[in-house]
Amino acid sequence: MSGTEEMDLAREAAGDGDIVFDWQSRERLLLGSYATWASGPAIRRHSDEPLHAYRSPFQRDRDRIVHSAAFRRLSGKMQVFTGDMGDYHRTRLTHTQEVASIARTIGRVLRLNEDLIEALALLHDVGHPPYGHCGEDALDAALAAEGGFSHNRFALQLVCEIERRAGTSPGLNLTAAVLAGQEQRIDKSRGEVVSLEVQVVDVADSIAYNAHDVDDALQLGLLQLPSLMSLDFVRRSLLEQQVDPQRIDRRVLVHALVETQVHHFLRHAQGVLATAEPTAQSDDAARPRLDMPADIEGERNQLSGYLFDHVYRHEKLIDIRQRAARRLSQLFYLLQAYPQRLPPRFTALIDRLGTSRTVGVYLAGMTDRFCDEVYLQLIEMGRDHAPDWEA
Ligand code: MG
Repeated sequence: MSGTEEMDLAREAAGDGDIVFDWQSRERLLLGSYATWASGPAIRRHSDEPLHAYRSPFQRDRDRIVHSAAFRRLSGKMQVFTGDMGDYHRTRLTHTQEVASIARTIGRVLRLNEDLIEALALLHDVGHPPYGHCGEDALDAALAAEGGFSHNRFALQLVCEIERRAGTSPGLNLTAAVLAGQEQRIDKSRGEVVSLEVQVVDVADSIAYNAHDVDDALQLGLLQLPSLMSLDFVRRSLLEQQVDPQRIDRRVLVHALVETQVHHFLRHAQGVLATAEPTAQSDDAARPRLDMPADIEGERNQLSGYLFDHVYRHEKLIDIRQRAARRLSQLFYLLQAYPQRLPPRFTALIDRLGTSRTVGVYLAGMTDRFCDEVYLQLIEMGRDHAPDWEA
């Protein structure tokens, strides 16, 4: 059946003029055969939930994530730069929104499931502990004997066990497709070919941070525009976006970086999908692999390496990070030795998770600010009761 015939059929099924009320008809109208359809196996762990008339299971997942406390806390978690460094740069919340925005743009063009993409994007960083990657490293070291700490795994624990919806069992009861997508982030080295929606969110994550870390670092004076001109991808982006060399500034550059990455990814993906055999969405082995074209990926790696050397390892950041990691480690060992100081909600978890893992959950759920406050109360003021963060 041609695309047009498919759409006519779907329109007919939807009835009532141009309004497409039920989500199943909208999927038939909009999605490619290779997309993940919510009208396929959108199974939930607690399967007694009736389907919603006009919100698909993935839309409901997206909404559950947006309404969760863990999602709101992203606003208080640093991405790369801390709150002490000003209020221009990204937080983990605004990074997440940029990822969702880029991923949805790509997904819409490729006729993938935008609702699944948005749910995956909004979930992807929810498990980050306070203080960004140095917080994760500190917790990972503290929990080494227990298998370490992974923010990707913690995101699953948050949405499956810790978050609560009104009057239901623990967790948000998300669909298997969303949980599997997050699960696949835990160990990317396994090289599984995952759903196209998961692949798109993954690439959108890197597109977003490559560009916004350049922007933030320029604004903070950690990078200078002229030195970025040595990078192949920077030069390519300005050229392809036809930027007048006299008018290059940080905003123009960041726009060019995002636009160029999305453009090349889309062109490549269109080619892959056009030649891919139409396949059942559940057929993992036959699923196409969406990558950046090799030359673009090489140039992006050069940019990432530059950011690594000149931004992520900048002495200003290293100092802030080391202090933050020390605070988190001190709190960890104090609470591991005196678990009775944990809020009651957490002491109740010790039987099931063990003391170290429970302390890890308590600390990982905090925002940067909340962690500073707990440090002040427990370590500096010597109080013997840690305050709770609510789920
Ligand atoms: Mg991210």
